[in-house]
Amino acid sequence: MARHRFVTAVQTTTLRYNEAVPGHRTQGGLISHHKTSRILLISNSTLHGSGYLDHAADEICDFLGNVQKVAFIPYALHDRDAYTRTARERFQAMGYQLSSVHTTTDPVDIVNQCDAVFIGGGNTFRLLKALYDFDLLGTIRTRVAEGMPYIGSSAGSNVAGPTIKTTNDMPIVQPPSFNALGLVPFQINPHYLDPDPQSTHKGETREERILQFLEENDTPVAGLREGAMIRIENEAMTLKGSSGARIFRKGLGPIEVLPGSRLNELLAS
Ligand code: ASP
Repeated sequence: MARHRFVTAVQTTTLRYNEAVPGHRTQGGLISHHKTSRILLISNSTLHGSGYLDHAADEICDFLGNVQKVAFIPYALHDRDAYTRTARERFQAMGYQLSSVHTTTDPVDIVNQCDAVFIGGGNTFRLLKALYDFDLLGTIRTRVAEGMPYIGSSAGSNVAGPTIKTTNDMPIVQPPSFNALGLVPFQINPHYLDPDPQSTHKGETREERILQFLEENDTPVAGLREGAMIRIENEAMTLKGSSGARIFRKGLGPIEVLPGSRLNELLAS
């Protein structure tokens, strides 16, 4: 940790997307960051030693406030019924009603009927393929641009970025594109893991994999350690949670950020 550069306060208002995301409104090469967007991106659903979403419950309640109905997107896991039971129980304990999009022939309608959306974790390729299959990307983008709160956890956070190229998952199915929702101008790497100096493992470290992404792409990457979250509202992007994050940008050294930091400038592409 001694070598890390810590950043605690940076801010800007203009966010540049460097990759066209289908369906997004652009302004002279910039995709406008919607002033109304409210987004909570959680690294992981379960933190060691606690139950499903326990570590994020206070933040979720504070973020959702008086919202009543939450649309749940369970496509990242195979057993959607079981996943919905788990998520519904947890959201009910926080005071929210959950409707899963997989229980209807018209998932778009569920998203339109609800006040917020929660996309759960699992396999990111399976999740994105289903979002394409059920034609949900445009509706989610529109609703979030209008101010509907978006919560993503892990795979659900990955798909909020311009692409899913920085997921840790295996491509177990093939979505039509790696382009995702593009709600934020940066990539997420959830469950971000620091290298173990004692390890004899010879595979790439997480940092090496992200640096390989940046050899081929320009978009900044937020490596969110387990326990970390990014909250976006009133045009401010703030690092929340307990564990900090590591930010990677093309041509620049990685930067450590502490909980409470403003991330706007670091994550603008
Ligand atoms: N499989 C992860 C999840 O829990 C996503 C990832 O690691 O990229 O959703």
